[in-house]
Formats: sequence, C-alpha cells, structure tokens
Amino acid sequence: MKNNQLDFLWDVSKTLSDSYDAEKIVYSIQKCLKKYINCEKAEVFIWDKNTKTVKNFSKNWIAIDSTKQDYYLHQILDTFEILKNAIIYNDTVYSLVTGEKTNLTIKKLKNNNLIKIYLPLIRKDSVFGFVELDIVQEKEKISSELLKTFGVLLYQLSSSILNNILNNRMQINVNFHDAMKNIAKIIESQYELSYIIPLIGEMIDRFVSSHLIYIFLHNEKQGFQLLWPNACHEKHIGEMLKHINKNSEFIISEDKHTGIFPLIQEKKLIGAIVAYSNIDVLSNNDIQYLQQLSNQSSITIQRASVYGEILKHATLDALTGLNNRRQFDVRLGQEVSTAKRKKTSLCCIMIDVDYFKKVNDTYGHIAGDCILKQVGKIIPKELREYDIAARYGGEEFSILLPFTSIQEAFAVAQRLRKAIEETEMDISEARVPNTKTIKVTASFGVSEYVETIKDPKELYKMADSALYEAKERGRNRVIVYYAKN
Ligand code: GH3
Ligand code: MG
Ligand code: MG
Repeated sequence: MKNNQLDFLWDVSKTLSDSYDAEKIVYSIQKCLKKYINCEKAEVFIWDKNTKTVKNFSKNWIAIDSTKQDYYLHQILDTFEILKNAIIYNDTVYSLVTGEKTNLTIKKLKNNNLIKIYLPLIRKDSVFGFVELDIVQEKEKISSELLKTFGVLLYQLSSSILNNILNNRMQINVNFHDAMKNIAKIIESQYELSYIIPLIGEMIDRFVSSHLIYIFLHNEKQGFQLLWPNACHEKHIGEMLKHINKNSEFIISEDKHTGIFPLIQEKKLIGAIVAYSNIDVLSNNDIQYLQQLSNQSSITIQRASVYGEILKHATLDALTGLNNRRQFDVRLGQEVSTAKRKKTSLCCIMIDVDYFKKVNDTYGHIAGDCILKQVGKIIPKELREYDIAARYGGEEFSILLPFTSIQEAFAVAQRLRKAIEETEMDISEARVPNTKTIKVTASFGVSEYVETIKDPKELYKMADSALYEAKERGRNRVIVYYAKN
C-alpha cells in the first residue's frame, strides 16, 4: 500500500458512483487500484448459473472458452464457494474474517510473473463472480491492513456490479418489448414478405446480439429456403431443420449453441428462426425470448400474407393512400387509349427518392416510411384533380398527366422536385435521438405520349429511362425523354 486505506476506499466509492456501464466500472477499479498497489489490469468475471459458464463482465459478457483458463477460473469460483469472505493472493487463500492464511491453496497458472489477486463478488451470501487483479510484483508481504481494505472493497464492488447487472436485465426486458412491438408494427404499412423478413431478422438480431440469426421460409416443394441474411455456412443447421415439422416445438442442439424455432401458421410449417453462436450457449432466458419473438414473427408473417391477398384486389397503396402500381397500370392503359383516340396530349412522370437506402440505414425503416408518407402528400398538392398519382413500388412514384404538354409536365416535375428538396421531413415517429426532421431529394424522368407508342407500358418505360439518366447525371434533377418521332 502506497497510501492510506481510507483515501483509497473514498476514491473507489467516488469513481464507482460515476460509472454506469460495465466497461467504465472495470476501468474505474483499475484506475483506483493502480495508484495504490501497482495494479496493471483488473477484470471482472461473472458466474452465469443459467448456462453454467464464466462470463467476462466488461467484454460484452463473452463466455470464456473451455480451455485451461476456464478450468483455472472455475477453480477460483470453487474456492470462494467454500470460503466466501476470502481473498486469493497468488496461490494462497486468506480469510478476511481472521486476517490469516488458510490451508486452502489454488494451483497457479504457469509462466506468470505477475501476482494475481482474486476478490469474490458476493450477494446475500452467495458468490456471483470475482474480480481478478494483476499486480506488478511488490516486495512487501500482504499486510492485515491490506486485507481489511480488500474486505470493504469487495462489498463496494459487489454492490456496484450487481446494480449494473440488474440495470442491464431491465434494459434487456425493455429491448425485448420494443422488439416485439416493432415486429407487430411492421404490417401497419408493409405486406411484402421480401421486405418484412429482413426487418424481422434485423430486429431479432439486434436483440439477441450474442447469436447470429437466420430466417428460413418453408414450403412443401422446396423445403427450407434461407431468406435472411444472404448466406448460412453452418451445415448442421440444415441437418437440424430436417427434424422439425408443423407439430414441433423449438429444438436446441446438445451443446446449446444452436436453437431452431419453428414458424407455424394455421397448423402449417411456414419457416423457422435459427439462432447460432460458436462461442455462446443459449440461456433459458434467451430461449424464452426467442420463442416469443418467433411467435410474434409468425403472426406478423401470417397477417402480411392475408393483407397481401386482400390488397391484390385493392387500388390504393396502404402507406401513402395514393394509387397502387396495379391501379396505375390500369389507368395507364385507359389514358393512352384516350390520347390515341382523341389525339390529346398525355405525359408521364417517374420519381425515385435519392439515396433512400441510406435514409433507412441511418435513421431506420420507420423514418423511411415517414418520408414516403410525406412525399405521398407533397405530390397531389402540385397536381390537378384529374392527374393520376401512384406509388409505383418501394420509393418510386409515378404520375399520369392527361391533356398536358411536355413543357407543362416538365414544369410540374420541377415544382415537385423543389418542394421535396425544401421540405423538412418530420421523422419524429422514428424516435432518432436529436433528429426530428431530415431533408431528401428525388430524381425525375418525364415522357410524352407519341403516336408511335403501341404498348401503353412504353410511355412508362420512356419516363423510367429518363429517370435513369437523371440518376446518372447526379440526381435531384428532372430529365425529359424526347422520343424520336
Ligand atoms: P438511388 O439514389 O440510386 O435511388 O439510391 P437508393 O438508395 O434510393 O436506391 P435503392 O433502389 O438501392 O434503394 C431503395 C431502398 O428503398 C431499398 C429498400 O430497402 C427501401 N425500401 C423499399 N420499399 C420501402 C418501404 O416501403 N419503406 C422503407 N422504409 N424503405 C423501403
Ligand atoms: Mg428505386
Ligand atoms: Mg432511390
């Protein structure tokens, strides 16, 4: 001890009270100890009763690999189980009650010049982990004062670390409910499985960060097909999938590294959510959470397919209230035939939001949906009553302008482009910290009906190719397609 014990304990209490996360707690311990006993490194290990593994508290709860190190750490835990109020100093166990050496000893790790000190973490008389300190060799022997100081220190650390663990658990519960709610909410605006499945995958993946998540869909003909993410190199997952059917509950592999959670819809097997890690095992809690998340996902997928069926007959887009693509195609046919018969003018505008993937990636898909809804509101404001606006798909919009010359259509597109560019889009629904609004731009392609057009789709294709050019030329601009007459 280089300094007085009271100062030391005061210092520890003060720094611990300012430390909220695991990494900070461990860093504070290390910083205080360094000043007093040449502590080079401090690490905190937690005994996870559930999975029977020792986990590293500060390093994201990584489970320690079952190597010699593991055996060594278990040996320390076992020692503290026998004698709780003790510290291990090198290979000797001291009782903190008597301040004396005990006859317990531990086998040291070889090739280690550092002195290792271990302090138990105690809660209500049971040991939930320990602190490991690496001390640069000191000549002095362990004093009774040092032992007393450590006796107080271990209770301070125990309560701080325990608080942090409990806070974490609460946070996990909050995150779980958020994930459940978000999975349920996806279908408020979306019903295409190709869009929904990746979102579900991302939400579960974010929640169960220790494991990789895979989503498979199943049908009678092709069996299981991986839908998210793009690849799965774990052969054993394929083998395990063979064992599930519509009556299956979840399956956990023998080593507990892999869990398969079937997605069942109206007594039919429609897929499975798989969790896998080569380091961590699935705890009972993880399994319960994953089971509920899979149930919620089944419900979302089922509702999406029902909505999808219903919407096949609908004419409006669920997110924006504009016409949907189907309806646009119907109206395109009608308007082209009117223009042809009555020799009136007709124009088409295609719109695509710029860098929209980046909006989703940066602010989340809820923010993306907010933008689409607002673009869906801006468009009709610049149009006449008989113009036809549609959400053509994703972040693409299309407009038909009957009785309109190409010059007029160009002017409409320019006004829209400006209106989108200038609008502060409200994304507060996405709850992004410090960001209530963002701005986006869009690119435009404009085309005009000409008599040479045979298939109505050509009018749309011409606008689309002008749109492509607008993207090529740098985005946020309007390009007109001039047909060769
Ligand atoms: P570019 O400027 O070239 O158009 O780039 P971009 O990122 O807009 O284009 P890209 O086609 O690569 O990305 C479109 C993205 O739009 C991909 C998809 O995730 C997202 N998206 C499609 N439909 C929806 C939707 O309904 N809601 C949300 N939030 N995103 C969607
Ligand atoms: Mg696009
Ligand atoms: Mg785009």
